[in-house]
Amino acid sequence: MNKQWITFANEIKELYKKDFVPLHEPTFDEMEIEFVTDCVSSGWVSSVGKYVDRFEKELAEFTGVKRAVAVVNGTAALHIALKVAGVQSNDEVFMPSLTFVATANAVSYLQAFPHFIDVSEVTLGLDPFMLEEHIKDIGEMQNGHLVNKQTGRIIRAVVPMHTFGHSVDLDPLIELCERYNLVLVEDAAESLGSYYKRKHTGGFGSVSALSFNGNKIMTTGGGGAILTNNDRLADYAKYITTTAKVPHRWIYEHDEIGFNYRMPNINAALGCAQLQKVPKFIEQKRQLAEKYENIVKCLDGVTLFKEPVNTKGNYWLQTLVLDQKQNRDNILDFLNESGVMSRPIWTPMDELKPFENMPKADLTITKKLKNTLINIPSTPLKVK
Ligand SMILES: *Cc1c(COP(=O)(O)O)cnc(C)c1O
Repeated sequence: MNKQWITFANEIKELYKKDFVPLHEPTFDEMEIEFVTDCVSSGWVSSVGKYVDRFEKELAEFTGVKRAVAVVNGTAALHIALKVAGVQSNDEVFMPSLTFVATANAVSYLQAFPHFIDVSEVTLGLDPFMLEEHIKDIGEMQNGHLVNKQTGRIIRAVVPMHTFGHSVDLDPLIELCERYNLVLVEDAAESLGSYYKRKHTGGFGSVSALSFNGNKIMTTGGGGAILTNNDRLADYAKYITTTAKVPHRWIYEHDEIGFNYRMPNINAALGCAQLQKVPKFIEQKRQLAEKYENIVKCLDGVTLFKEPVNTKGNYWLQTLVLDQKQNRDNILDFLNESGVMSRPIWTPMDELKPFENMPKADLTITKKLKNTLINIPSTPLKVK
């Protein structure tokens, strides 16, 4: 490997003062121990207890939405977000091909079909202009619904995903949703603390999903949340994720097939402590991005991905953008062998076996980006 990359790897190890630097680790202190200990001492560690209500209330405040419903993980949050948004079996749902598999899986749980759209190089997320072109190609309005002329299926919703904590260009997407009667459901799993035009991501869609998996900007161990400004959808999400039980002091009556997706109290206790630190984590991640930008300057043919205009990103995962002359796999081999954990972006959904026959648009940018993006260590860090 050339000298530039050896220097780069060494600088990262120096920055973190470690011989092996993981991609992303959770950060805890006494506060998490205190909250979780309190939860265990109370005996209420499972499906009842005060931390779930508190976490939901604080999450809604933090994200500026009316309601939050805490669930077991981000995938479950997406599943229920899509369900309450009205996605039905045999519908199609637009989404980027360049996303984590959960986005496509959640649509499939409802016997609906993901329909893959290209992404923008500026945001790394769904490209509203490519989507519009594609709709003009394959879509037709029938009885107030957008129908895919090639499959005859209704296209019900659009799921943008805010890649690595950087918001997609939401205004033109919202305009398309209005024009073509599509429901907007945001996959905000990576974008807690990220803003589009000063409004928190996840607050634009009819419903949105967050994730608190161990590698996300904050964690509850495993966890997720559904966000919405609509009380009716929030109430339905709460009810359907808690076994669809009809409220009663002692009768077990369930009047619909429900899910056991409720976040346990002990996870919510961890979440209440972590949420208080998200502003600090974001500050540190943004400083880390500045630091990396300087270090990356010594690499030829490489830049650090920066937040698009009109957005403020949480910089959840720091991202190297290689020009097409660079050999991604050699770089990944070298960094990982040097103790600097690094990963490529996901394999695009249209290339995965379960989704290879799903409808899709032209995916030129997706195919380019899949070989040119590398995530580097991103654990929040005091750099100054
Ligand atoms: C993490 C993630 C999810 C799912 O979250 P889990 O909590 O792991 O189920 C969904 N979508 C995206 C884009 C993610 O990064």
